[in-house]
Amino acid sequence: MKVALVGIGKIAVDQHVPALAASPDWELAATVSRSGTVDGVEAFTDIASMLAARPDIGMVSLALPPVPRYAYAQAALRAGRHVMLEKPPGATLAEIHALQDLAAAHGVTLYATWHSRMAHAVAPAKAWLSDKTITRAHITWREDVRKWHPGQDWVFEPGGMGVFDPGINALSILTEILPAPVHLQAAELEFPANRQTPIAARLTFTGNVTADFDWRQTGPQTWDIEIETTAGRMALRMGGNVLELDGQPSQGENTIMDEYPALYARMADLVVQGQSEVDLAPMVHVADAMTLGKRIVTDHFNF
Ligand code: NAP
Repeated sequence: MKVALVGIGKIAVDQHVPALAASPDWELAATVSRSGTVDGVEAFTDIASMLAARPDIGMVSLALPPVPRYAYAQAALRAGRHVMLEKPPGATLAEIHALQDLAAAHGVTLYATWHSRMAHAVAPAKAWLSDKTITRAHITWREDVRKWHPGQDWVFEPGGMGVFDPGINALSILTEILPAPVHLQAAELEFPANRQTPIAARLTFTGNVTADFDWRQTGPQTWDIEIETTAGRMALRMGGNVLELDGQPSQGENTIMDEYPALYARMADLVVQGQSEVDLAPMVHVADAMTLGKRIVTDHFNF
């Protein structure tokens, strides 16, 4: 099946292009980007031209930032194409509900991806937790924004989500592995004095679940979820790729596929089955944190 990849930037180059090159299901047939291109692939600078010129391309994968993504998704769905969304799936919850309605009306697939859910140890962690009683859980998601988003000012603009751009990856894992849902009760958000979105966040959920997101961590990076249960401790480390049980490394990780190849394989399944997959649970937590969060002004931030 042919795919057009939209927004040829960091994640498109790092992950989407290699995943598509190795995919048995998909052929990268066109790109849409105002300046980015992929060698040997037909390049368009606007979505309308691509949709008009290439009716043979049945799927559009959107790897551009969340705020501009809606208009591209709307155009592709209206043209009867299947659509795959990078995370977070949009700038607001309502616009994703609108896309769900549009996909259903046109009989095409809409897939809101959560790449971290495809990390190697997430499925085994979910299976281990499924019959446990959780007494406490804590997320530590601390990374260096200058390393992972060099010069990307959009993350600090309205809709860019700030530290929730990586933090929503942790929330996508949490909402996947917990046997019962939790909801946010309190949040503290640290906003640089010159920016529109938080650079750090501390969250408190029901069920004794807490989270600490920080984008100012230099040196070793931390992407851990630690969970205590009445039947022992579990930790997911390295962004969901390493499972520890009672402090010991555990076998049983899914070593079949990396995150982005797994997303494209899932998209192929959804298209073949005529289904959509849109789980907004991680984004509900972010929206709630923005609604309920106490605002703390902190130091200026510049790249
Ligand atoms: P990026 O490099 O800043 O943006 C991707 C491309 O989107 C840009 O190169 C640009 O291409 C296009 N674009 C940017 N702003 C636009 C606008 N206002 N209108 C139209 N096109 C625009 O961002 P990224 O890091 O790849 O992130 C994109 C998405 O992937 C985000 O949702 C992010 O959360 C997700 N993601 C990122 C990472 C990561 O490590 N960076 C990891 C996983 C997921 P043109 O200028 O050529 O149009």
